[in-house]
Amino acid sequence: MTASIPSSYIGRFAPTPSGYLHFGSLVAALASYLDARAVGGRWLLRMEDLDPPREEPGAQTAILKALESYGFEWDGEMILQSDRHDAYAEVLNRLFNQGLAYACTCSRKQLEPYHGIYPGLCRNLGHAQADAAIRLRVPELEYRFVDRVQGEYRQHLGREVGDFVIRRRDGLYAYQLAVVLDDAWQGITDIVRGADLLDSTPRQLYLQELLGLTQPRYLHVPLITQPDGHKLGKSYRSPPLTEDQAPPLLLRALRALGQEPATELNDASVAEIIAWGIAHWDVALIPRTLSVAEAQLS
Ligand code: GLU
Ligand code: ZN
Repeated sequence: MTASIPSSYIGRFAPTPSGYLHFGSLVAALASYLDARAVGGRWLLRMEDLDPPREEPGAQTAILKALESYGFEWDGEMILQSDRHDAYAEVLNRLFNQGLAYACTCSRKQLEPYHGIYPGLCRNLGHAQADAAIRLRVPELEYRFVDRVQGEYRQHLGREVGDFVIRRRDGLYAYQLAVVLDDAWQGITDIVRGADLLDSTPRQLYLQELLGLTQPRYLHVPLITQPDGHKLGKSYRSPPLTEDQAPPLLLRALRALGQEPATELNDASVAEIIAWGIAHWDVALIPRTLSVAEAQLS
């Protein structure tokens, strides 16, 4: 068994309880799980419950139940981001006191003309933290990394992103800050996740650099594209995963990841499919993109 190979690999799955798991989340979770277990690595679970108002009641329990019925076994206790506010506050205050982050009082309406790229209006105004969003100053630099599936990815932080929010005006910490601190704190070596987060990675690389954290390896699962080749909107969601569909959906997720499960697996149990996936995991087979039809989202 691969589990006896000593490995320094630590992977994770980090769902947000704003909704239930769907086929896209299954593909990401499965890729992350198989990639870790294939080398005898650890696989951790972190609930990204940063935004209580957007949390779907019952979603946390439903996510855990779905993971169990689809055969995922995480190591150790699940981490909750809601327990980590002190750690986020400490780093945020440090960045603020060093002048690397600043308070922004711009209204949504004021920012409308800039199409999501913050033009730095409050950069040098010295606002106090109270009742303001906190933004991280970004350098006028391009950040690049080589994704294990998507290849080289580049983004110019100044031109394409702008100074970004690390704590919202309502006091909630932003995903970008929390994810970087928690991945480092949990010792994550390999991030395998949905392709919708590819364009968040350069912001995370910048935060890692600023905080002197080790950069993990990245693998973003296939981008799901429309028939014309365009990326699917983030709002696109397939229905929640149902427990009775676990074996066929696991097989479908394996195929979406380019793996080639033998036909004997058609009547296999969840445990058998997962074991096959671990034994045969081959990153080189993962396609960069997948059409909606291939992904069989609906
Ligand atoms: N919580 C994020 C999501 O559900 C994933 C974070 C990550 O994997 O970096 O989209
Ligand atoms: Zn502002």
